[in-house]
Amino acid sequence: MSDTLHICGLESARGQKLRTCLPVLDTTTKIPITIINGCSNGPTVLITAGIHGGEYPGIAAAMELGRDIAPEDISGCLIILHPVNIHGFWARREFIVPEDGKNLNREFPGDANGTLSQKTAWLLSHYFFPLADFYIDMHSGDIHEELHPYVYYPGLPNDDISAKSRDAAQTLDMEFMVRSTATTGAYNYAAISGIPSLLIERGGTGMCLRQDIDAYKNDIHRLLHKLGCIAAAPLLQKGALKCQILCTSVAWNQPADKNCAPACRSWIQLLKYPSPSSMAVVTALPSSSLPVSTAVNTPVSRQLWSWAAT
Ligand SMILES: [Zn+2]
Repeated sequence: MSDTLHICGLESARGQKLRTCLPVLDTTTKIPITIINGCSNGPTVLITAGIHGGEYPGIAAAMELGRDIAPEDISGCLIILHPVNIHGFWARREFIVPEDGKNLNREFPGDANGTLSQKTAWLLSHYFFPLADFYIDMHSGDIHEELHPYVYYPGLPNDDISAKSRDAAQTLDMEFMVRSTATTGAYNYAAISGIPSLLIERGGTGMCLRQDIDAYKNDIHRLLHKLGCIAAAPLLQKGALKCQILCTSVAWNQPADKNCAPACRSWIQLLKYPSPSSMAVVTALPSSSLPVSTAVNTPVSRQLWSWAAT
């Protein structure tokens, strides 16, 4: 990469931080973005949060990292989008982009002449993925989903991309990682395009808890250290590394087994009960019984309000 990063009309010189809003081409939608161009050379790392607008801890963590990391702190370049699905965030909608009713994470690689979801996917695929040496996508259980933390890494398109992604996943302080052979998710498509990538899941049920935000920031610090962007050891490091249980799928509504990571936190609790009947409870709530989201009163929402006012 040259010293100055150019992307979609934005420009960030070596040693500069840029915080602004990125227009989605041919729409009135603008995505909050932070570009931190480090003072020295290194990899370009792309981080997205809020592809699902109701998944708050990753959005809050991404905004805080964008605020707190200085160009002097890193080698290389960080590009952070927070949140990608800005309308879904304000509408407090689970999964979809309200304008077209589509799940953005199922629209990759997108379409420049399509709906807002498809244009947004195309923007990422066409302009951002080609710049990235590594891609991290931050999700959560959505507004109606409880979640046990885990990380996905791509099983496609080849052993090299998969091994680099898995190697990075193993630095995270969580129990489970899941090898995925899906093709339509953002991180899956990035991998198919030749970029090692991860999707991390923490938090859920419409909450934006400090413990989940800090755990997410810890994840990113570990990964940036692993990738050579940050020289110092992770600031929030705690405990031994635990991400060592490899699974090939995720259990939402059934007990986890050795091949299946537990997505619902309550399954972990239910498995401790002796009676099988205790396991009849399914904790993924239907959309019709959504809990009231606390997002409007959380730090991430206040940051976005103040962002909009500047
Ligand atoms: Zn999600």
